[in-house]
Amino acid sequence: MLWKCSVCGYITEGDSAPSVCPKCGAPAEKFTALSDEASEKIYKADRTNDIHHEIAALAAKINTLCKEGLEINLDPGCNSAFNASNKRAWEIKQLVKAEIASHVAKEKY
Ligand SMILES: [Zn+2]
Repeated sequence: MLWKCSVCGYITEGDSAPSVCPKCGAPAEKFTALSDEASEKIYKADRTNDIHHEIAALAAKINTLCKEGLEINLDPGCNSAFNASNKRAWEIKQLVKAEIASHVAKEKY
């Protein structure tokens, strides 16, 4: 069973609500049990949320590598490729952030 803190939104698994919210310290009474439907949405989205986070981390790594490549400044072709890759990685990160925000808004997070 999933329980949600009504103060901060923290979600936890268990047969009963935790005595204290690990995130905000709210007491057990502030937790409500999620319905089967609400729980299923969260479980179903769990892996895709992880994938989105991994993609964002990879995009951030691409940004870092591109900046390093631009600092080396080998030649215009190299710099052009790094600039294009850097821009695309930024766009990927923004796509991921928008999708995660929509998951949060739809209580799939
Ligand atoms: Zn809380």
